[in-house]
Amino acid sequence: MTTVWVLGNQLTRTAGPLTDDPDRVLLIEAAALARRRRYHPQKLCMVFAAMRHFRDELRDDGVDVVYERAETFGAGLDAYFDAHPGDDLVVQRPANHGTADRLRELVAARGGSLRVVANAQFRCSPAQFDDWMGTEPPFKHRPFYRHMRRETGYLMRDDDTPEGGDWSYDDQNQETPPAEYDSPSVGGFEYDEHVPAVRDWVATEFDTWGDPDGFDWPVTREQATRALESFVADRLAGFGPYEDAVLADDWHLEHSLLSAAVNIGLLHPEEVADAALDAYRSRDDIPLNSIEGFVRQLIGWREFMRHVYRHQMPGLATANQLGADRDLPPLYWTPTATDMACLGSAAGRVYDRGYAHHIERLMVLSNFALTYGARPQALTEWFHGGFVDAYDWVVTPNVVGMGSFGTDAFTSKPYASSANYIDKMTDHCSDCAFDPDSTVGERACPFNSLYWDFLATHEDTLRSNHRMGLVYSHLDSKRDAGKLAAIRERAQRVREGVAAGRL
Ligand code: FAD
Repeated sequence: MTTVWVLGNQLTRTAGPLTDDPDRVLLIEAAALARRRRYHPQKLCMVFAAMRHFRDELRDDGVDVVYERAETFGAGLDAYFDAHPGDDLVVQRPANHGTADRLRELVAARGGSLRVVANAQFRCSPAQFDDWMGTEPPFKHRPFYRHMRRETGYLMRDDDTPEGGDWSYDDQNQETPPAEYDSPSVGGFEYDEHVPAVRDWVATEFDTWGDPDGFDWPVTREQATRALESFVADRLAGFGPYEDAVLADDWHLEHSLLSAAVNIGLLHPEEVADAALDAYRSRDDIPLNSIEGFVRQLIGWREFMRHVYRHQMPGLATANQLGADRDLPPLYWTPTATDMACLGSAAGRVYDRGYAHHIERLMVLSNFALTYGARPQALTEWFHGGFVDAYDWVVTPNVVGMGSFGTDAFTSKPYASSANYIDKMTDHCSDCAFDPDSTVGERACPFNSLYWDFLATHEDTLRSNHRMGLVYSHLDSKRDAGKLAAIRERAQRVREGVAAGRL
């Protein structure tokens, strides 16, 4: 007799232990997990509603499901083992660090056993990653991605070369949508009783941050499959050119909005990639820069992050190589408290939906925190609480490594920029209270002074980085022209204002 314990981010019947007709399935809805921090109400709603739907679908198919609603996993297991003493449980290895050991202890303390089996929700296994890339840093995405392309055969020609001749078309992912641009509509899911019930329960039971209304995320496999189909049909073709663009009036552009569904198991990354590749082969409107960009994110970056996290934890959680020591500015929790159009918009989108797309996460929200000097752990905490797709294995490497340059184990330079990048990739600057072309003065965009001050502050660490040579030559020019002191003074005033809640 085997019981499969299905965790809330393992809601899959197409991969892992549920593919082998289990005798019984256990799900535990543990409220305490939702009390660990102020989560976005839409994230809690998505996970709990998806668990309840998953239970119902299994039962409809005749599977014996035990569904415990409890304060903690321990209390849920108490109830389970009272009814099924000495049972043997099986669970997929959780991607989050340390969870498997904690679950094993909880089960053993109640007289049962827990067998942890491979996590089948990723494309690249730990053994495959380790055999090929090794277990020590530096970990490099570029060769990993090429390996994954060869290994999967995605976008490969018969002679083992990449389709189109190049491995990456990143340089063709940076177009600005035209003025009349109107992105295809998204979402529009309809919900039965679970979503409203869970939404009400979350509102009364938990201390959350974010807007509970406007919930529009898939909570069943069927809805997630429809979301995938709609992305492939309507947005995949435009994904590549506008991947890095940020528009004030368009929160999603051509992004897939699939991360949250993939991260809880409603979709498998391989089926998502296959659907996109099938469309690419059967239609003639999907450019190579779109399909390649999408495969790179999903099969490259997503899988890569999972493995660097696996190898770098637990140290990654506290990594802070630049010694950043400031708290996260209050405006992250109160997006209306800033006149900076890009920052207020990105943080506001997180508040509204638990979502902002990759460039907003990296080049707006993280870039500001990085150049301001916020602790990577403070930013991680905010991302954890704010996003519908946030799980430790993916938040921590993205925020600490990519967003904060807290480690150089897998990121070779900080993603820091001045207003120049923001002005190029977004349409916010024209309507902003701050001037992207000024560096000093009250109306100068704060990104400018913070950026140059950041470079000056971390000169000892960063100047020798060969990828930073050009920007340090620009810093030298400013220093030589006697402008740096005023810039750093402006940065200091910006920081004081930000810390006091004014910007
Ligand atoms: P699309 O733009 O449509 O991309 C397709 C898919 O690629 C995504 O659904 C996602 O599964 C995958 N992907 C792309 N980039 C990454 C990446 N760097 N790491 C992992 N997967 C990636 N992703 C999360 O799933 N959860 C997070 O909590 C999260 N936090 C992030 C924090 C920061 C600071 C940064 C820079 C990135 C973070 N990402 C996170 C990665 C990425 O931004 C999101 O996966 C993506 O924006 C989700 O939106 P989408 O589904 O529309 O993605």
